[in-house]
Amino acid sequence: MRVLVTGGAGFLGSHLCDALLAEGHSVVCADNLLTGRMANLEHLLDEARFEFVEQDVCRAFDPGKIDYVFHFASPASPADYLKHGIETLQVGSAGTLNCLELARQHHARFLLASTSECYGDPLEHPQRESYWGHVNPVGPRSVYDEAKRFAEAATMAYHRYHHMDTRIVRIFNTYGPRLQINDGRVISNFMKQALRGEPLTVYGDGLQTRSFCYVSDEIEGILALSRFSEHLPVNIGNPREFTVLESAQVVLQVTGSKSTVLFEPLPQDDPKQRKPDITKARALLGWEPKIELRRGLELSLEYFRGAVQSLSS
Ligand code: NAD
Ligand code: UDP
Repeated sequence: MRVLVTGGAGFLGSHLCDALLAEGHSVVCADNLLTGRMANLEHLLDEARFEFVEQDVCRAFDPGKIDYVFHFASPASPADYLKHGIETLQVGSAGTLNCLELARQHHARFLLASTSECYGDPLEHPQRESYWGHVNPVGPRSVYDEAKRFAEAATMAYHRYHHMDTRIVRIFNTYGPRLQINDGRVISNFMKQALRGEPLTVYGDGLQTRSFCYVSDEIEGILALSRFSEHLPVNIGNPREFTVLESAQVVLQVTGSKSTVLFEPLPQDDPKQRKPDITKARALLGWEPKIELRRGLELSLEYFRGAVQSLSS
């Protein structure tokens, strides 16, 4: 296949490009480098089956004949989407419609990278795909949550009205090499702080929970879904739940750091709990994550060491 990956210079998109190339496909990556980095793609630039186009996907563009669109373009970390609120709304709405049109014109399949944020600050726990969520439509996080909810609605509309072959993956917190060191997410912050011997900034009381999926597990799940004919959303994430404080302890153990913990205010509308119910992914795709947080952080340690060093050099 010839595959278009939007947002391919980002953390997940670049790993997806690697995996698609490894499967023998040709990949066109379209990215405007808003939050992504060419460094994530450097190793692919001499690859004949890989093409990079610097492109805002909210604008019309022609990538040539394509068979599959993986739409990953969007700021993803709270720090990024709070800084780029309007761009986040644009890429989720105009960008998604534009990419759906492209896929329709080329009779290509389409996979949307959606998010656990669609569940908001969930009242149902763990979150099943059938849960409609508890989202503040006018809060600070709404630029991301509502953009993604619109993107899901748009994807389902193209499936229903244009009979397009679409997929929606709801991604839960994913980490690993190439996670931006300065993106403000909990794993990147804690790893950076631990490796520098600085206090780990825990927001609120640290009892809020998240579940962390290692990037290779996440990409495997996404590719499994891309091959399976299910049009409604599917959660792909690791169901092992950690409080933020517990995740700080794992970071300290893996890095061997003596850093302390510093409590800071909880951001507005910060979800109190989050854990995917992956029954659907298990049943349909035979997929489940293999790599636990401690092992995933060990696998990421060299990357984070290098990223921290390059910040200080
Ligand atoms: P990232 O910020 O590393 O990558 C996003 C990429 O999209 C960047 O390279 C950025 O430059 C690009 N981009 C943004 N706006 C664009 C536009 N208008 N045109 C072209 N490119 C644009 O983030 P990520 O963690 O790799 O996330 C990728 C996707 O996965 C996002 O859609 C995100 O919402 C989703 N997701 C990620 C996570 C996670 O834990 N990493 C969780 C849930 C959902
Ligand atoms: N968090 C924290 N310290 C940090 C960064 C984040 O305690 O330095 C908390 C944040 O308040 C949230 C959780 O960790 O409860 C996960 O935050 P992240 O920004 O990684 O992603 P989210 O799941 O909120 O989108």
